[in-house]
Amino acid sequence: MKAYKDLSKEELLTLQKQLNKEYEEAKAKELKLDMSRGKPAASQLDMEMDFMNVLNADSIFKTEAGVDCRNYGIMDGIPEARKLIGDVLGVSADNVIVFGNASLNIMYDTVARSEIFGVMGETPWCKLDKVKFLCPVPGYDRHFAITEQFGIEMINVPMTEDGPDMDMVEELVNTDPAVKGIWCVPKYSNPQGYTYSDETVKRFAALKPAAKDFRIYWDNAYVIHDLYEEKKDTLLDIISECEKAGNPDMVYEFCSTSKVTFPGSGIAALAASKANLDFIKKFMTIQTIGYDKVNQLRHVRYFKDAEGMKAHMMKHAAILRPKFEAVFHVLESELNGLGIGSWTEPKGGYFISFDALEGCAKKIVEKCKEAGVVLTGAGATYPYKKDPKDSNIRLAPSFPTPEELAMATDLFVLCVKIVSVEKLLKEA
Ligand code: PMP
Repeated sequence: MKAYKDLSKEELLTLQKQLNKEYEEAKAKELKLDMSRGKPAASQLDMEMDFMNVLNADSIFKTEAGVDCRNYGIMDGIPEARKLIGDVLGVSADNVIVFGNASLNIMYDTVARSEIFGVMGETPWCKLDKVKFLCPVPGYDRHFAITEQFGIEMINVPMTEDGPDMDMVEELVNTDPAVKGIWCVPKYSNPQGYTYSDETVKRFAALKPAAKDFRIYWDNAYVIHDLYEEKKDTLLDIISECEKAGNPDMVYEFCSTSKVTFPGSGIAALAASKANLDFIKKFMTIQTIGYDKVNQLRHVRYFKDAEGMKAHMMKHAAILRPKFEAVFHVLESELNGLGIGSWTEPKGGYFISFDALEGCAKKIVEKCKEAGVVLTGAGATYPYKKDPKDSNIRLAPSFPTPEELAMATDLFVLCVKIVSVEKLLKEA
């Protein structure tokens, strides 16, 4: 098949007729499919039911040190849960606080605390004229929603396969004291599935921020979420790199077991320097007497150690891998060589990023919706939901069954073709 841009007007018109016919047929199937959010499928959750059995009325609810998890106490997480998460992240348990059921909540509170009370003695952000965050794009919509809610100005930084454009990051962070943070998903980034290179991590650690209260928001949500045992991406540990570079306090690292056990019922954690954690704990003591230690204990008893958790992730991979590959296959066989879109092929995480021709993403998403396939809203991967090129679409293959996914992706490529032909005809 020729690239669409090399087709004559007549050829495009013929193609358009054919595609529209296919679309009407697809619509008649009355599909009801959802590829919009990175949710585990029911089959993944079913696989977790033993997790609910590790603690029951006959269990002993004591930590190794003898603390009763059924009662108040231990605000910063039971030691064995802090060690478990520390081992997963490759940091000491001393650098970890285990919180409640979701990491997004910790991120929100971290921004809110900085706004209201400031960061380690610096002026609260709400008293400043301007606060800015750097946002590698495309990125995670819920990160951008937090900074938008607090009126923080978001600056787009282009992503590459190695991570954010570090020349731009260094220039902005090192010269502008209003830049207080950067959102990062360093492993299997949402939505491209890129993992930051060692050089990128080292350049992050070596930043010389103009603002003392600048922090890297290192959301390691997909730290052990590999699709392949034999080809896993690797990521340097930012906490020790920052220490080595003389910037121990510059990073907050977040993670959770939302896509390890149950989303919304997992455990979430923050890893950072002792100075950062001590500062944060002063506020935590007012906010809570402690989080859900029973769930922390359940996680520890179920996985035993980090190796247990990583081995468990391969069971998720066995369910997720064929879904990702089914999408890759349809994209490859239907779109390769047509010059109307490009996409990523991640080795982990929950998403695939698709770039359509400029000005086409919104129309593609609309067209899919009209025929019963819901995708993440076009623009959602950019701050303020504004994709300057209107080209990026996030595909989330985890939730549908493989059969549904094949149908949804077939419809998606059909819509990509239709909208691209429309664009080329307009320009012809
Ligand atoms: N960070 C990223 C990058 C995510 O993709 C997600 C889930 N889609 C989250 C955080 C949410 O994590 P949690 O359930 O721990 O709030």
